[in-house]
Amino acid sequence: HTDIPDKCAVRPQTEHMNEVYKPLASASCNAAAGTEDGLNNFATPNPTVPNAPAGTPRHPASLGGSTGGGAAIPQPHSNPASEVPSPAEMEPDRPIGYGAFGVVWSVTDPRDGRKVALKKMPNVFQNLVSCKRVFRELRMLCFFKHDNVLSALDILQPPQIDCFEEIYVITELMQSDLHKVIVSPQPLTTDHIKVFLYQILRGLKYLHSAGILHRDIKPGNLLVNSNCLLKICDFGLARVEEPDPSRHMTQEVVTQYYRAPEVLMGCQHYTSSIDVWSVGCIFAELLGRRILFQAQSPIQQLDLITDLLGTPPLSAMASACEGARAHILRGTHKPPSLSVLYMLSDGATHEAVHLLCRMLVFDPAKRISGSDALSHPYLDEGRLRYHTCMCKCCYSVPSGRVYTRDFEPPADRPFSHNYEQSMHSVWQGKELIHRFITEHQQGKRVPLCINPQSAAFKTFIR
Ligand SMILES: [Zn+2]
Repeated sequence: HTDIPDKCAVRPQTEHMNEVYKPLASASCNAAAGTEDGLNNFATPNPTVPNAPAGTPRHPASLGGSTGGGAAIPQPHSNPASEVPSPAEMEPDRPIGYGAFGVVWSVTDPRDGRKVALKKMPNVFQNLVSCKRVFRELRMLCFFKHDNVLSALDILQPPQIDCFEEIYVITELMQSDLHKVIVSPQPLTTDHIKVFLYQILRGLKYLHSAGILHRDIKPGNLLVNSNCLLKICDFGLARVEEPDPSRHMTQEVVTQYYRAPEVLMGCQHYTSSIDVWSVGCIFAELLGRRILFQAQSPIQQLDLITDLLGTPPLSAMASACEGARAHILRGTHKPPSLSVLYMLSDGATHEAVHLLCRMLVFDPAKRISGSDALSHPYLDEGRLRYHTCMCKCCYSVPSGRVYTRDFEPPADRPFSHNYEQSMHSVWQGKELIHRFITEHQQGKRVPLCINPQSAAFKTFIR
């Protein structure tokens, strides 16, 4: 018997009800594999299951997406935590996104009724490369502790190792992303742009301080909710910074429109400055509400960049491959035309264009860092607004606001990827990931697993 509504795609793994702290050693195969056994292992959640902490912010789904609606810039007197759940939170489980490396669903956590995002990471164990990639993403999601970076709230309990094929991660649910906001008709004021850009750079500073390059910063990977809170997501292409410049790094990174010139020119080694270039493109896109460099091919992409920045000096192409350098030198000499950036919109003030021009620098060595960009005066208002009424690091007392000591904290330690060295085969990877998930959950809330009886499940597995 169960009183879990069938529409829930996840349910408590009640095999654990009386032994929450013990790893699941004897469970039969997950019913995702279609076995009857899987269905009988679940029951009602224990009433003593801890609820989400009081005051956990609820995010009405009124921003962007198919529902339209507007994003209200939070005012200092508003308190996001006091908002009541909107009718949208009663919506049944449904898909909300499809990435290169998985599907994301909006689901209800049966332990507390909260809407959360459930991401399926498929084809994990096809080969060693995918195994390492997924494990890296999983470990990063569990490592992150920053309000502007999406992190894992939970991982669904894996079945026993022979049946372990897919990984399901639960993250906070966000209503929209910057791509949807930019193409929507809703107004995007200078205040919006400042608070969005501030949070992008705040999250990026944290990632870079942990030694992580995101490598696919684009509007669709910047999740936002109706309170304008922003979180960087999708770490499918992220990797640890390579300190050795003689080590080759893949060129297959970053959606073309946001790809830095050094990557377009085939350099073999790049740094976190490729993410800053992407942020510059997004900043211009927020101002102009159109993609800054929208080219049909990587070569045209480079041409559009040099149309704006002018022909780069040889010194800025030191790391470029021979063919790319020849392409630039073959063309006519172009003068820079940065003044066109003032025509992006009324929001393109001197301050805005100044910061934009520090990000859109051809030579990665001369491009501003994410951390330094945060010191630019353009972001002062965004910082004030964020820490006055949006953040979790500062708080109000009757006499005023108590601000945190570090507005843009770095990571407390670098992300380590040493574990990858001990992964030599798919089976070994499977064991490592299985152990990681099981250990990650020990001592935490009642574990969840996929609910194969849910109405949404059939659609979900397709
Ligand atoms: Zn704060």
